[in-house]
Amino acid sequence: MIVIMKSSTPLEELEHISNELRNRKITPETIVGTHKIVIGLIGDTAALNPLEIQQLSPFVEQVLRVNKPFKRASREFRHGEPTEVFVQTPNGLVAFGHNHPIVHVAGPCSVENEEMIIQTALQVKAAGAQFLRGGAYKPRTSPYAFQGHGESALDLLFQARQVTGLGIVTEVMDTADLEKVAAVADIIQVGARNMQNFSLLKKVGAQGKPVLLKRGLAATIEEWLMAAEYILAAGNPNVILCERGIRTFDRQYTRNTLDLAAIPVLRSLTHLPIMVDPSHGTGYCEFVPAMSKAAIAVGADSLMIEVHPNPSLALSDGPQSLTLKQYQELMVELTVFAKAVERWYQMPIPTQVNTESTFHNLIAVNV
Ligand code: PEP
Ligand code: MN
Repeated sequence: MIVIMKSSTPLEELEHISNELRNRKITPETIVGTHKIVIGLIGDTAALNPLEIQQLSPFVEQVLRVNKPFKRASREFRHGEPTEVFVQTPNGLVAFGHNHPIVHVAGPCSVENEEMIIQTALQVKAAGAQFLRGGAYKPRTSPYAFQGHGESALDLLFQARQVTGLGIVTEVMDTADLEKVAAVADIIQVGARNMQNFSLLKKVGAQGKPVLLKRGLAATIEEWLMAAEYILAAGNPNVILCERGIRTFDRQYTRNTLDLAAIPVLRSLTHLPIMVDPSHGTGYCEFVPAMSKAAIAVGADSLMIEVHPNPSLALSDGPQSLTLKQYQELMVELTVFAKAVERWYQMPIPTQVNTESTFHNLIAVNV
């Protein structure tokens, strides 16, 4: 259930309502928006009478039930106002969200060595990316396949961040590595195979870095949003959803089926920012440009693309990786599409955002 209050509601009145709700064993979560104040009610709201809540204060405008199993992740919970996830990179503040330019994340599947990661970082930055991606801990189907260089790869990502000023996106697979990963990552990735690793979700929810939550290989949209709910419920409001393709019947021509319909569907269901990963979504580099353009057309807030200096030698996901040159060419083409939807990234926002006037998201400061 949510209670929509007039934006002119005095603080004492908000306190009064919150206390009344607590007396009814409900935890109130107040979200101050630009036009409205919304109080999200957490707990067993089934027994509450909306009329009674309405009468608690003359400043109550409306009381609405959220009939979805995902509450905090639902659009209603923020009364339709999209979440903005702000990430402070050395190059400036980057905002993910429906009202912001498209954010570009690029890099290799795995961090392989110093030369390749620095070279890739410099080149994707030159092409216009704001974030470098690269796996240190890799979820591989075979235990005999390359598992990632672990801690030494994290050191290389730290170095790449210092050299280029790009933000870092990297995956955590195990709660035991969370602290190490969070020390380097500006955004922590939870991979498709861990989307329903609930103990990991609770842990990433209890720390301060933004979380990129990839869709599980066979996850429904509702299961995915419930996974996001775990992170939000644990106290971390900065969640970005990433569509990376789901398993369907064709394994011959595509690795996964990129579910682009999920983007407008999510938009109707949730306030969270949405990223698309056309690399895992198709499995082949030749299909990445078309699906990147399509992702922009359907309203993605961000793109994550695998790029490698020499894909034929890549230790993982070579066939779906673009060369540095192909990425640069694609970014030039994407300018046209992003400009058409008025979402081309000009420059990182130079100063920190004033959180007083907007919904109070945590700002991840990592400089
Ligand atoms: C990756 O980003 O390299 C990765 C392993 O992604 P996913 O979890 O979507 O398979
Ligand atoms: Mn990969």
